[in-house]
Amino acid sequence: MADDGDVSLLVIVVDVNPIWWGQQILKESQFTLSKCMDAVMVMGNSHLAMSRKHRLAIIASHSQESRFLYPGKQWKMGNFAESGDIGSTESNCSGSKDGKYELLAIGNDIITEEIKDLMSKTEVRAQLTETLLAGSLAKALCYIHKVNKELEVGQELNSRILVIKAAEDSASQYMNFMNVIFAAQKQNILIDACVLDSESGLLQQWVFLPDPEQRSQLVLPPPVHVDYRAACFCHRNLIEIGYVCSVCLSIFCNFSPICTTCETAFRIALPPVLKTKKKKPKLSTHNYLTS
Ligand SMILES: [Zn+2]
Ligand SMILES: [Zn+2]
Repeated sequence: MADDGDVSLLVIVVDVNPIWWGQQILKESQFTLSKCMDAVMVMGNSHLAMSRKHRLAIIASHSQESRFLYPGKQWKMGNFAESGDIGSTESNCSGSKDGKYELLAIGNDIITEEIKDLMSKTEVRAQLTETLLAGSLAKALCYIHKVNKELEVGQELNSRILVIKAAEDSASQYMNFMNVIFAAQKQNILIDACVLDSESGLLQQWVFLPDPEQRSQLVLPPPVHVDYRAACFCHRNLIEIGYVCSVCLSIFCNFSPICTTCETAFRIALPPVLKTKKKKPKLSTHNYLTS
């Protein structure tokens, strides 16, 4: 690990959609939310253990809210992370009984408490079934921005986001999702994805632990085929050929004389009769104005 003053921040966004995880229990799948969270904690701990310059944040993406599991509300960031003062946290943690590094054990306890709290306090509503993934990613970007502002002089932040995605892609979040992805790209923030269920059109899986610099030195599996088709804004269908609004770049599968996104009226394909009628007076005014 290169120890050159750069801070490496990993933000893990975990999809905790109660409906999807509930279905896993009904299917008698071996893979439960608690097992998933265990794996996330191992991943987070490994990242923290690799260097003291490594930082971690974990966000739970629910169908009703996005919540920071770590650093959480009980976690006095800075106080604890910088000085290692365990007494400053108010959690009733079990501490380390198995020789595990105490800071990691406390972190794990806080994450467990937060997720229990989130799952028990939110009711499952039938009309809210989609994970608020785009919102959680936006929250991750905001957090990265905040950490970046708080850096000491001379320090640089390398950040990336890992999404653990469970529920299916949400068509209604397509635009928000793309905006988040473009914002991340602009700020050089890599987004990795671990897709648990069906293939995602928005996120592709990759390797998770090494940072982008190290990846260039590794022999990695070839990238999977990416479906670059865009979804139309009217029906959210993936299309190969469509109509694009010249003003706001919205994509439509059918021609419409008015853009439904920005309400621009398009003046194309006018009947030839109208064109010849308007031609003469237009030319004369033009000549008058320029002469
Ligand atoms: Zn359409
Ligand atoms: Zn438009």
